[in-house]
Amino acid sequence: MNIALVAHDNCKKDLVRWAREHVRELKGHRLICTGTTGRLVREALHDLLGDESPSTPVECLKSGPLGGDLQMGSRIAEGQIDVLIFFWDPMQDQPHDVDVKALLRISNLYNIPTACNVATANCLVSSPALGERPGSTYDFSEYTERHLD
Ligand code: PGA
Repeated sequence: MNIALVAHDNCKKDLVRWAREHVRELKGHRLICTGTTGRLVREALHDLLGDESPSTPVECLKSGPLGGDLQMGSRIAEGQIDVLIFFWDPMQDQPHDVDVKALLRISNLYNIPTACNVATANCLVSSPALGERPGSTYDFSEYTERHLD
C-alpha cells in the first residue's frame, strides 16, 4: 500500500509516536509524506527497523507550506495513495490553509480512507478493510460529460 502521512507542527510528535507504535503495521508499505513529517518519520522508523528500514521506504515530498499538500493531492488524483493519515492542527491557523482544504477535499472526492486524529488512525490500521480500494462514490461522468450550453 501507499500510505500518506502528514502532520502540522504541533501534531508531529503525535504522528511520530503513532508511527513508532504501529511500526509492525507500517512495515513493508510505502510511506509518502510531506517534507518535514517525512524526515521525522524516516528517522524514527530507521531507529526502530535498523537494517530492515529499506523495506519501508519513506518518500518526502515538499514541505506542506511549500506545496507538499498539493503534491499529495495530486498523487491522490493519480490513484497513487491508498490511505491518508493527516493530523491537522485544530488550534492554529496555517499559512497554507487553502492547500490543507484542497487535500482534504480531494481525499474525500476519491474516497480515500482518511484519519485526522490518533483515535481514527488506530481504527484504520487495525481494520480488516484496510487495503481495499473502494474507489470514488461519485459518478464523475455526470461532471465530465456535462453540457454547458
Ligand atoms: P511538513 O508539512 O510535513 O513539511 O511540515 C505538513 C503541512 O504543514 O502540511
